[in-house]
Amino acid sequence: MTNPFQTDGTWLRCALHAHTTRSDGELQPEALVDHYERAGWDALAVTDHWTITHPPARDGMVLVPGIELTCRTTAGVWVDVLVYGLDRELDVEPESYDSYPDLPDAMEFVAAHGGVAYIAHPYWTGVPMDVVVGLPAVVGIEVYNAGCQIECGRGLSSVHWDGLLDAGHSCFAVACDDTHYAGFDSGYAWTMAHVAEPTADGVVAALRSGACYASTGPRFDTIEPAPGGLLVRCSPCRSVTLCTGPEDGGRAMVGRLAFRHRARIVDRDPSTGLITAVAFAPPPGAAAARIELADADGGTAWSNPVAL
Ligand SMILES: [Zn+2]
Repeated sequence: MTNPFQTDGTWLRCALHAHTTRSDGELQPEALVDHYERAGWDALAVTDHWTITHPPARDGMVLVPGIELTCRTTAGVWVDVLVYGLDRELDVEPESYDSYPDLPDAMEFVAAHGGVAYIAHPYWTGVPMDVVVGLPAVVGIEVYNAGCQIECGRGLSSVHWDGLLDAGHSCFAVACDDTHYAGFDSGYAWTMAHVAEPTADGVVAALRSGACYASTGPRFDTIEPAPGGLLVRCSPCRSVTLCTGPEDGGRAMVGRLAFRHRARIVDRDPSTGLITAVAFAPPPGAAAARIELADADGGTAWSNPVAL
């Protein structure tokens, strides 16, 4: 379990789920890169269905090789998988569901060819999470998918995530736009990757080790050990939540009654009174925690689990 806030490196704002005309997206690959570059993002993984799109390289924008696979599961439902750093494509007929691989076989291939995998939009797909446990290459899930949220309100998969964590599995998270119509469904969700070098390999390594966090607005400044617990510093937020497992955890919030549990507000934004630092005293026996931030504009950020 890595804590990226305690190592040297640079944070990159990454778009990790986006489509171009090479699959079912509206923009040409170069135009999609233009779009995200103009909006100030640092890295883009084009994740076309079944094909690895390589837009022309350019300065100032890290382009991460990506692909979205669809696989069969024993549960009888399809699962989409985001893969980064894969060095070749699978031999699949894109228009034929019958030719799609079984999930374990596809993940064997991904692991053998340098890829790291995140299960896409589990809530939207309706996939039971036990089918992804123990698979090679799979390190996490897409905890938030903006496109699924915009279309039908099934973008948030934090319950799926906690189900895996509660059962003792390692699981990281990314948040993504799943852009098909840039401008309409882009700029809502991103993943901050903590990299030693601002390169595609650096981003893939961060995703592999969980040196990243997901966001639709708030920013983590630090998550670090403190006497008796954990200190979290962040952009101004209405609530900061310590998620440690069933039936307990911790939370600081502002607003009506300003309830607090196992938390002490250490710092506030002077003009708004919103929280910028919280010290948590985690429940006895808790081994790890993920942190969730909620800002005043409806944005959320999700850290990966850190050891307590
Ligand atoms: Zn997609």
